[in-house]
Amino acid sequence: MSTSLDLGELARSFEVYPTSNPTSAEERAAELRAPRFGTVFSDHMARITWNIDGGWRDRRVVEYGPLLLDPAAAVLHYAQEIFEGLKAYRHADGSVWTFRPEANAARFRRSARRLALPELSTEDFIGSLVALVRQDVDWVPDAEGFSLYLRPFMYASETFLGVRASHEVEYLVIASPVGSYFADGVKPVSIWIAQDYHRAGKGGTGAAKCGGNYAASLLPQIEAYEQGCEQVAFLDDVTETYLEELGGMNLFVVKSDGTVETPELTGTILEGVTRSSILQLARDRGHQVVERKIALSELIAGIQDGSVAEVFACGTAAVITPIGGFKSTDIDVTVADGGAGQLTMALREELTGIQTGKVEDRYGWLTRLA
Ligand SMILES: *Cc1c(COP(=O)(O)O)cnc(C)c1O
Repeated sequence: MSTSLDLGELARSFEVYPTSNPTSAEERAAELRAPRFGTVFSDHMARITWNIDGGWRDRRVVEYGPLLLDPAAAVLHYAQEIFEGLKAYRHADGSVWTFRPEANAARFRRSARRLALPELSTEDFIGSLVALVRQDVDWVPDAEGFSLYLRPFMYASETFLGVRASHEVEYLVIASPVGSYFADGVKPVSIWIAQDYHRAGKGGTGAAKCGGNYAASLLPQIEAYEQGCEQVAFLDDVTETYLEELGGMNLFVVKSDGTVETPELTGTILEGVTRSSILQLARDRGHQVVERKIALSELIAGIQDGSVAEVFACGTAAVITPIGGFKSTDIDVTVADGGAGQLTMALREELTGIQTGKVEDRYGWLTRLA
């Protein structure tokens, strides 16, 4: 799909204002050797401004730096904000690619619609990634498992305390180098089942990638840590019966007969690009793939009687994370032997292989950025 776009032309619609104070080559090399994800950012950021009269304008790449925000900016009060997350991967020949950006662009528009923000075209979304990555291409690491994390986001910038959709909006993309998620090998994580909290409610914003959903997941995440677990899983808010997802990752179950299952999208689950890619790859391997409601009680019973062989979580950041066990006030189970499952690891290998150019990209999932 993205191959129909002229990426050079998209990038040229962004005016570039190079920083007069770039990071030195030595300093950058040190950062790329041991990336401090989320703390250290590349030299520039891409930016587009919107207002209700003029629409999207001022496509530009500027020096990375603090934003000027009025204390009465709407986003600070009513959380009208959305974001995306994707990665730029360096291939062996030095070229730089990203994975299914048109899917992120489409999701960004769905999120915008739900949050009453203006929709950004696929051309502007992908154009902003190309423009930023071409400017900061030296920030894309080349070590195995490393990448440049790209964070597009949009927020209500209007100075106005009235409660309505903002008439002024800013869209930006920032980039942070990231190392291997599992630096010391892939380790299964333990999951706490949230008791008194839900991530999303029927009719709410669960299917949108918005900061507010994350704000609501932080307290249950603290509860998970206190219970000795690394991540929290949420149940549906209406019946408190069915597994939905983690705070920022989708869930998969592999049965002992090879069936691959994931909770169906009911409006309260975020539709992950990794999730949809895994559904495809599992189907291609000949697995029966089912999207349906999965009751927590059914999962726990299946783990106990051995009919559930593997459970994993997935998302852009960690790709695929094996799940070793589940806990809640009355549950404490280990999935199989508690180690990383075979299909879990095979899918992880295949997906990261496609992203990094080591496995054939048979669906045209990659877009070349630089
Ligand atoms: C971003 C996100 C995911 C994973 O989506 P990917 O597109 O695979 O990165 C899953 N759940 C939530 C709540 C998310 O915000």
